[in-house]
Order: sequence, then structure tokens, then C-alpha cells
Amino acid sequence: MSLSPEQLERYSRQLLLDGFGAAGQEKLLRSSVLVVGTGGLGSAILNYLAAAGVGRIGIMDADRVEQSNLQRQVLHTTGDLGRLKVESARDRLRALNPDVVLETFAERLRPSNAMTILASYDAVVDACDNFATRFLINDACFLLGRPWFHGSALAWQGQAASFFTGEPESPCYRCIFSAPPAPGEVPTSAQVGILGAVAAFIGTVEAVECIKHLLGAGKGLAGRLLIYDALTMSVRTIAVRRNPACLLCGRSPAIHSIAKENYAADT
Ligand SMILES: [Zn+2]
Repeated sequence: MSLSPEQLERYSRQLLLDGFGAAGQEKLLRSSVLVVGTGGLGSAILNYLAAAGVGRIGIMDADRVEQSNLQRQVLHTTGDLGRLKVESARDRLRALNPDVVLETFAERLRPSNAMTILASYDAVVDACDNFATRFLINDACFLLGRPWFHGSALAWQGQAASFFTGEPESPCYRCIFSAPPAPGEVPTSAQVGILGAVAAFIGTVEAVECIKHLLGAGKGLAGRLLIYDALTMSVRTIAVRRNPACLLCGRSPAIHSIAKENYAADT
């Protein structure tokens, strides 16, 4: 594959970057990424992955656009109210960059479909809003040997991390959080709110991490958890370690496949 004159122009500002160049752009155009969720995180992730020229992008979301989404889910517009989010996202991204092949999944990620869908992508980006789905992404990516990029945001805070990006001895999501919290234990954005720009900040971190990994550039967030507090405007990373007793990646793992009972009923 070599870049067309239009592509050399379109991507000219990133072609100039250290670690990028035409070879990096060709790598991105040959890459495929599944983004699970098209909300506040997904809006930033999808816009930047598509704009950068990730060649094939899967867009997954079962929901339709609601009025209360528009304050943060900037992929969707007032004219999209009532439409499937995957359709409004696809239209927006197609208009942004015709180089990108877009595949839509108007369904939730479930134990029954996770392995098949995730297997056909090089990497997965977490833009979901619940713990059960996140644990499912973690476990399926581990079993498939796929990297995944985590992010979550609530109220004025957010966090991000990268998993299975090839660094030996780096932890998985279960090493850090062991099991999903009980329903109701952690509040949702419908209860405590969220600022759209805070979700966009975390989604942008995830997009950067994913693009760096696809290029093989820089140092990622494996073994580190990024913690963002918008009210005090602090961004820090803390070291996170592998748990030898982890049920998935520990010394005596108990999870060898995606069994429905390991994920909350709401998936
Ligand atoms: Zn683990």
C-alpha cells in the first residue's frame, strides 16, 4: 500500500511526527479497532481514530440518541434524536474520513458474542458505561491476545489504563479491580452527573494510547493507572501491579473461557 496524493495531504501534520511517517500511516490504515460505546468517551475516541485514518473501525452500541445525551455525546446532533447511535456515529465518521471502513453493531457486548466480534479486530477501546461489559472486554481480550484501552469518567473525574499491550508482568483489569462492584455500589452519570469535556479528555487519552500502540510509538499506560481530577486540574499516574492471585492472569487462573455466570446479569 502506498499513500495517494490526497492521503499525503490529509495526514500531512501527523506524517511529520516522530514515530509516524508514511510507514506509520500505512500501519494505521491497515489496522482495525472496535470501540465499545458511542457516548461521551466514544465520541472523542471515534472522532480521533477515524480522523487519524485507522482503516477499519467497529462501532458498537445498542442505544438510540436521547436529548440528555447531547450535552456530552458530541458525535450525535439534535437532528439524530431517536436514531440508533451506531447509525448517527457512522454517518458523522463517514463524512469526516472516507478512507475508513465503518462496521456497526447495534447490540450490547455479551458473553455470547464477545469472542467472535473481538477476534476480528486488532485492538479494543472501552467506551462503555458499566463494569460487567468492562470485565467482559478484559477477559475476552486476554483469551484472544488482543490489547485493550480502558477509560471511565464520572462527575469531574476520570481514569484510563492500557492492557495486554505486550509489556511483560503488566497487570490486567481484574488484577486491579478483581470483580465487578455490586449493582448500585458505584453511582452512574444519571445519578451524579458528568461534564462532557471531562469524558472527552479521557476518551482522547484512550485514542492517543490506541494510536501509539498501533504505531509502536512511545510508552503506554501498561502498569499505570492515569487519574484525572478536573476540579483541581490534576493528572497523575499511579503504578499498578499484577496480582499473582488474579483469577484471569494469575498463577492459578480459574477463568479459561467466557462463561456467562462471570458477568452480571445486565450484560
Ligand atoms: Zn489479572
